[in-house]
Formats: sequence, structure tokens, C-alpha cells
Amino acid sequence: YDDRDGKIWMDGTLADWRDANVHILTHALHYASSVFEGERAYNGKIFKSRQHSERLHYSAGQLDFEIPFTVDEIEAAKADVLKANGLTDAYVRAVAWRGAGPDMGVASAGNPVRLAIAAWEWGAYYGDAKMKGAKLDISKWKRPSPETIPCHAKAAGLYMICTLSKHAAEAKGCSDAMMFDYRGYVAEATGANIFFVKDGEVHTPKPDCFLNGLTRQTVIGMLEERQVKVHERHIMPEELESFQQCWLTGTAAEVTPVGKIGDYNFEVGELTRGIAQDYEQLVRV
Ligand code: PMP
Repeated sequence: YDDRDGKIWMDGTLADWRDANVHILTHALHYASSVFEGERAYNGKIFKSRQHSERLHYSAGQLDFEIPFTVDEIEAAKADVLKANGLTDAYVRAVAWRGAGPDMGVASAGNPVRLAIAAWEWGAYYGDAKMKGAKLDISKWKRPSPETIPCHAKAAGLYMICTLSKHAAEAKGCSDAMMFDYRGYVAEATGANIFFVKDGEVHTPKPDCFLNGLTRQTVIGMLEERQVKVHERHIMPEELESFQQCWLTGTAAEVTPVGKIGDYNFEVGELTRGIAQDYEQLVRV
């Protein structure tokens, strides 16, 4: 993955893919002082590009650092990366972090803030499972309270339990894991938000301790346009049994139907398929 041709934008210039490295004393590597974005370009255009760049700035602010490039500069950089790599349909990864510098302890105000943007071709997040209904494990890890961590930032530190959850899920033959929050309510998957359907109405966890994904917001808008009632609320684990359909949303996941969570089964129903198709069309206009 590191030894290949291509260009990665780093701190204002296009570096060769092979040379896009950081020093071992990078603060982010030791203390998770890093924020990132996952974006997708369709037909040469990044869906909700500006919102992603704005969220990157917001996340950095939540971690108490400022990205030394404006949203407009980040927008231009993303376009440059796609062009330099000859990509039209791609996943775009922007990452900002506290670099190596005079401070190699917990505090790092003196270290430079770095920014890099890479892009590559990437197909469906859950591969073949996508329209058949993904199988989800139930994670033993709970999403933390807003008093524990800046939980609305897209920050590296929040993903430690996601990686652990996803590894445990994959070891059981599942594609992902559903996580509860610190209060025991249904939260989200390890890199995607979750929706349920019950008697034609949609229920989705209130994003009060996890990322309110851009795809989530887009899909809620699509449901409202279809005049489907959407309940954003706290969902108890014992309610899982009463839901008929389920899907995940995320930039990488897009709209992915879920067939199973633990021992609960869901059908890939008409609304799930309809929303998945509508989303596919929307991102390509
Ligand atoms: N939750 C988590 C933990 C994520 O990593 C992502 C992917 N960024 C999402 C939700 C979905 O967010 P979005 O729709 O903005 O990609």
C-alpha cells in the first residue's frame, strides 16, 4: 500500500506516494492527536465536499488545534489529488494531525499541525454482502459519553474501540458490529450510522454521543421527501426484535442493508432498497 506510484498532497504540495511519510516522533502517533475525513468522489465530483472540509476544521477545533489551510484551500487540494492520480470515482482521505516537534509529551502546543490528502479507488465497503444484507455482530464496547471524549469530532482516538469491535466481528464471520452507547442505547456501527424500519416508519438513534453522519442527514432528508415518518430517539436493545428492516449509512458504506444483528433478523425490504437506489442516484448527479 505504501510502495506504489501516485501522488499524495502533503502540507501544500503533491508528494510522491512512496515519500508521503511522517517521523516516528509524530505526536499523533503517540497520543491520537489526529482528525480525518472519509469522502467519495462520483464522476469526478466529491459528494458534499465542502461539508467534509468544514467538518475536518470542526474536528480539529474539538481537539484544540487549527488546520493551517482554509476550507477553500482544502477544496482545491482535493481536486488536485484527484487530478494528479487520474481518479473520477474514488475514496478521498484527508487527515490532519499534530506532528513531531519540541513537545513530545502529552502537551504539544509547540508542534506543527500537518495536513495530508490521499485518494484511491475503492468499491463497496461491505463487498458482495452489500445488497444481500450485511451480518452484524454486537460489540462489547460502548460508545463513550460526551463528558469522556469529544464524541462529535471525527477523531482517531474514537476509533480504537471501533477497530477492536470490527476485528471481533470479522472473527465471527460478520462484516461489522453494532455498538451500544454508555447508557445502553443503540448507537451506530463502527464507521456508519444505523436506521431501522417498523411498520413503514423509520427509527434511528439520536446522535447525542456519536457522529451525526453526512450520509445520515442526507438519508433523513430523502425519507422526509418520501413523507416517511422519521423518529430520532433513544432505542433500547430489547426493541431490536420489533424492527423489520435495517440499514447502515456512511460515506464508505453508502446505504447498506443489514440482514442480521446478533440473533435478530431483518428483511431487505422495499424501503431499504428504495433508499439505497435513491442515494446511488443522488450522489451521481
Ligand atoms: N459514524 C462513524 C463512527 C463513522 O466513522 C462514519 C464515517 N465517517 C459515520 C458514522 C458516517 O458518517 P458520514 O455519513 O459523514 O460518512
